[in-house]
Amino acid sequence: MAMVQNVQLSKNFWLYDYLKSETAERNSEIKNEQFSPSEDVISNLIRVNGLLQRVRDWYGLPIRVSSGYRSPALNAAVGGAKTSQHLTGMAVDFEPLDINGREANGCDYKKIATWIFDNITFDQMIKEYGTSECPSWLHLSSVVDKNRKQGLEIGEHTGKKYIPLNFNNWIVKEPTVSGNPSVYIKILDESHTR
Ligand SMILES: [Zn+2]
Repeated sequence: MAMVQNVQLSKNFWLYDYLKSETAERNSEIKNEQFSPSEDVISNLIRVNGLLQRVRDWYGLPIRVSSGYRSPALNAAVGGAKTSQHLTGMAVDFEPLDINGREANGCDYKKIATWIFDNITFDQMIKEYGTSECPSWLHLSSVVDKNRKQGLEIGEHTGKKYIPLNFNNWIVKEPTVSGNPSVYIKILDESHTR
């Protein structure tokens, strides 16, 4: 199979953002498979990228894709679940950056997760690993229809089990100046009970 060309999917994201993988870079067979996604996978990536671009537009600062599509060989190599939505290109793991280009803090993650919950039709959003205050990344997925809008979290603090995402128990420190301060104040004024 021929490797696909890199194409721009939206203002801030390219197809290769969703294909690149350090594990694939170290193994040419995995890389060949990883960079030869099917048309179905590409159409799923385009759909989930539409959601991520909306998050990016609202947040106003760069967002790093840490994992998008995973071919079967890559998914096996990284120990991904056999039913992972990454296998079909329906899911993305991402890390928002702060105004200094470093990974955002728990406050920014909570702000983004809250905005996604209030504004986006998604299938699953998962706050993954890191600490209960600041995850290592957010996982966001989109299916063709019957998106469940299911919020979950997993990490040491959940005993490495998926539990419903609880905004009330997500305690964060001082806000930073990154992101959109006016929206942040709005969030502080709301009580979230999901
Ligand atoms: Zn994921």
